Amino acid sequence: MLLHNYTLRIVLAECNPSSEKVNALVELSEDISEVLPYLNTVLKGFQYSDGEKILTVKRKGHLITFRPRQIAITKLEDEKEAREVMEELKQVVNETYENKDHVKPTYISKPVPRPTDILKLLPGKNCKECGVPTCFAFAFKLTSHELEWKQCPLLLTEEFEASRLKLSELFSEGGD
Ligand code: SF4
Repeated sequence: MLLHNYTLRIVLAECNPSSEKVNALVELSEDISEVLPYLNTVLKGFQYSDGEKILTVKRKGHLITFRPRQIAITKLEDEKEAREVMEELKQVVNETYENKDHVKPTYISKPVPRPTDILKLLPGKNCKECGVPTCFAFAFKLTSHELEWKQCPLLLTEEFEASRLKLSELFSEGGD
């Protein structure tokens, strides 16, 4: 086992203090640097700096940032959910560490899709049903991971199945 213990504290979302969601900052009892490139593979990370040892992944609607001795988790309902998510992450960290001889480490980030490329995959109706004024604004929110492509209801229809598949691939989440 690599990771034994941690201490978790809840913090308000800095970018939106009035949000009902909270974030969690978790201090780790062990340094998990060694396992980060393997977690990058297993969790399909979308940002990884091997020099700084920072890995960001998206998992079950949360943005999760791993550092050597800290994990930050966003968009949580409360402390109970934070503890559940963290227990799962602890398990993933330890299982990945134990299986690392069978996992190919990834030392680079996935290329980040550009808003203009994403825009080509959106329905282009500017109908606002996703909560933002235009498809272009929605594309920006997707690249910054503030929104998810599933929040455009038109993409869930048969007509946009091909776009849906491409977006699903571009924004694949680890562990879902
Ligand atoms: S719901 Fe879909 S089609 Fe409508 S504005 Fe948002 S991204 Fe565009």
